[in-house]
Amino acid sequence: MSYTTKKISEKITLLADETDGAVYLIKGRDMSLVFDTGWDSRPLKPMADSLLKTPYKVIFSHGHVDHVGRSGEFDAVYMDKNDMGIYRSNPARKMPHLTFISEDKILPVENVIDLGDRVIDVVPCYGHTPGSILLVDRREKAVFTGDAIGSGCGVWLQCTGALKVSRYRENLKNCLEQLKELGVDESWNFYGGHLGQEKMSKVSDYNRPDINLMSDMQQLCGLVMDKKVEFTPADVMEFDEGKPYYASHGKAEMFFVLKKI
Ligand SMILES: [Zn+2]
Repeated sequence: MSYTTKKISEKITLLADETDGAVYLIKGRDMSLVFDTGWDSRPLKPMADSLLKTPYKVIFSHGHVDHVGRSGEFDAVYMDKNDMGIYRSNPARKMPHLTFISEDKILPVENVIDLGDRVIDVVPCYGHTPGSILLVDRREKAVFTGDAIGSGCGVWLQCTGALKVSRYRENLKNCLEQLKELGVDESWNFYGGHLGQEKMSKVSDYNRPDINLMSDMQQLCGLVMDKKVEFTPADVMEFDEGKPYYASHGKAEMFFVLKKI
């Protein structure tokens, strides 16, 4: 059985893995990109080879196991090097149905990637992990966000290795400045790392990430730091950092632990 494929546009194809994780194929004239490799039990590379007509580069949005779990099929992968520790310490590295690329084949991601007909900008958005990045496709008016701002029901900062809320706020500020310089506005489409989560939001029936959610997220960080927003104990995966709490502001939702505000 094959991955579920959805053609978003002529240039962008989504592959959904069996956990509703998203792998994006971004097609250029001379070069294409595979953004994340999911953690499906079925091979990914044959799908990429058949759907992409050009050479391609594989890029990780960040180092978490559910985004890198088929990477061993590829010869090289690009990632922000700040996530090497996250990649190395993935607790699921030994899951037998997954395959991981060796660390010496993980190369530092460039700031700008030339696809021939257009460039893709790489914008840091550190917080969920120390090396989470976004890809910006100006021609397609698309931003690929991995888990950096969540996929519609909140960003996870309660996980092992996530940055403090205060540092996330600073990084979001810089990230938002870069996005605005690149022309990103509320008409652009944002594509997260997990599918169907827009319907799991607590703030609205369908909470699709966009530039406004990012602005609200920056404000939410400040409200959490100043304790000017309600903290609710959260029924969400707990890691070794402490009990998770939830807070929201506008479109933004966040899970965090008290010792890392
Ligand atoms: Zn993640």
